[in-house]
Amino acid sequence: MNTLGNQALGAASSCRVRVAVEAPQHSGLTGPLDYLGPQDLTPGTLVQVTLGSRDVMGLVWDPLPPGQVDEDDLLPESELRPVGEALDALPPLSSAWRRLLDFAASYYQRSVGELALSVLPKTLRELDGAQLQARLKKLDKADAAAAKAAADAPLAEPARPALTAQQQRALDALSAEAASASPIPSLLWGLTGSGKTEIYLRAAEAALERGQQVLVLVPEINLTPQLEARFAERFVGRSIVSLHSGLTPVRRLQNWLAAHLGRAQLVLGTRLAVFASMPRLGLIVVDEEHDPSYKQQDGARYSARDLAVYRGHLEKIPVVLGSATPSLESWQHALGGRYRRVDLTERIGGGALPQVRLFDMNRLERKKGVTTALSVPLLDALRKRLERGEQSLVFLNRRGYAPVLHCDQCNWKSDCPNCSAHQVFHKEDRTLRCHHCGVSQRVPRACPSCGNPDIAPLGRGTERLEEQLAAALPGARVARIDADTTKLKGSLEEQLAAVHEGEVDILVGTQMIAKGHDFRRITLVAAVNPDDALFSSDFRAPERLFSLLMQVGGRAGRDAAQASTSEMWIQTWYPDHPLYQSLGQHDYEAFAGALLRERTTANLPPFAHLALVRAEGRTVEAARDFLVAAERAARALPLSLGLVIYPPVPMSMARVANVERFQMLIEAGNRTQLQRFLREWMQDLHALKRRQKGLTRWAVDVDPLAI
Ligand code: ADP
Ligand code: ZN
Ligand code: ZN
Repeated sequence: MNTLGNQALGAASSCRVRVAVEAPQHSGLTGPLDYLGPQDLTPGTLVQVTLGSRDVMGLVWDPLPPGQVDEDDLLPESELRPVGEALDALPPLSSAWRRLLDFAASYYQRSVGELALSVLPKTLRELDGAQLQARLKKLDKADAAAAKAAADAPLAEPARPALTAQQQRALDALSAEAASASPIPSLLWGLTGSGKTEIYLRAAEAALERGQQVLVLVPEINLTPQLEARFAERFVGRSIVSLHSGLTPVRRLQNWLAAHLGRAQLVLGTRLAVFASMPRLGLIVVDEEHDPSYKQQDGARYSARDLAVYRGHLEKIPVVLGSATPSLESWQHALGGRYRRVDLTERIGGGALPQVRLFDMNRLERKKGVTTALSVPLLDALRKRLERGEQSLVFLNRRGYAPVLHCDQCNWKSDCPNCSAHQVFHKEDRTLRCHHCGVSQRVPRACPSCGNPDIAPLGRGTERLEEQLAAALPGARVARIDADTTKLKGSLEEQLAAVHEGEVDILVGTQMIAKGHDFRRITLVAAVNPDDALFSSDFRAPERLFSLLMQVGGRAGRDAAQASTSEMWIQTWYPDHPLYQSLGQHDYEAFAGALLRERTTANLPPFAHLALVRAEGRTVEAARDFLVAAERAARALPLSLGLVIYPPVPMSMARVANVERFQMLIEAGNRTQLQRFLREWMQDLHALKRRQKGLTRWAVDVDPLAI
């Protein structure tokens, strides 16, 4: 450790300082730790400290307000360790930033140090003072060069489209909110292609003119380049950076610093970017706010959408949540007046949404030996597009050739040895692969159980669909985009470019192609087998299916000239299902209304608040017993009165990679009570974990998305 800090301590002015450090979750430490440091150490400064026997990076936190200090709990100053070097070349992280982290840690039941340090760039945490200074100097130079280049370049006036009347009203509503002293979030509800992004651009422009920074969140990495391009095109000469997990560590640090130093005017990023330090933040946009990707699935399971709303509230700045199919949580907030609803009901250029055709699979002629699930009318429709030189998109949310191999002599199935799941048949490389634990093997020549050489694929994935389409429509250029075809860096961009260039007639793919892409020539979209989600054990499955299908449907007819002939086909065994009926009318409002009525009756979110505790063990007993003890501890807490505590059950995927998984659900009518209960219960759980042998992991998920 650098001794400079210690020398500084020689001065008489040292005192107790609280430092947030990355203490592991299982230590049960939730708050910052006490160290001894110089009196003038500003909260938000990075400092080196010792934790146990390790030197780690810490972040100076705020002193406790006098009323909250319990003298008995404090270590005497003589026992405190001194803080080491302070990285004071870096301006401190702001108070607003620290309040956001305080809130997030407490709400999602994590230690503040763990969360605060984990959301900083890893490279930043590894620098010492000298290295940091060198890096900042380098950044200064680069910025000066960029500023010079920008000044030399002729400032292009962007050719902005004139807003439609509806867009203008929407923008006026957002501006009114921005002008308010404590704005409430706006829910921008608009169909795909209704000009939401244009509204984001205008709102961002207004914030930039006020000299503020703008944060734009998108659900997935592969959507950032598209949005970045649109922002870059509009804001020539402005500094735009992105923050997502696909960046190299050095690039991530640079971009983070640009935001933190206030130099980046626009920050575009995925969920982690909600924690970007931005001293002049003036607007947060959350695009596709309903998207499940905004929820972090491990560590602190935060919702970036919800934290964006909280951050807006903290910093008194406008937040715009955009979606064609808002989450029911946001929709309910808008109905109740907590959010301001702003509607865009027309597609730009007056284009119609595709006409939805529900094809009743019960009408499919059943002939022995016919395995294709592409109905004749759908094939005819695809053929018509082909003849007219238009593109089609066929959507199936399952990759591989077939979800399982099957022997009809002995009923053997290609089960994964490690998971409660089938191994998926991939024909291209003749493997059986588990999509959960990754285990892979050659396809056996004959049934491993009875020797029958006639084992057959059951069901279909995108690979098989591609094959069937190519066979049924000779001459068609069929291409497939899914996780298997896009493993190589840059391959997704390449494949998408081919679609845009018109080199593809029929595009087959998973939900990877459902989102965001502005395909101009697609006039037919088909979902060949979407029914599964209607019967999922997860109460949110229908909500997700509806929004996914709306989104996929939105890929068709983006070119207004062709919109009137565009169609969305749905092959279903349940054409009368209310979900499909609402979809047929493009009626999100009716669908949301129906779901909300169901949720009220069943006492589910947004009318109740949930927390889920998951446990993983080497044996069923280890995982289950931990939760059984947890349940007992929960019931013993006075704060549990009035909560619904459900008994532990195996997760729907009970075993993954030889780990047994259980979960238990807590339901509360009141969020504050749930929070207070969880805080006490977590102490019990940490203690129980230390006693439970064979328990590998446990975690609490507040506001879980997948049940
Ligand atoms: P969304 O984000 O709702 O899908 P976009 O903002 O991407 O909608 O708009 C769809 C298309 O219409 C884009 O190509 C966009 O450039 C264009 N567009 C948006 N607003 C206007 C406008 N007022 N006049 C002309 N074109 C517009
Ligand atoms: Zn067999
Ligand atoms: Zn497996």
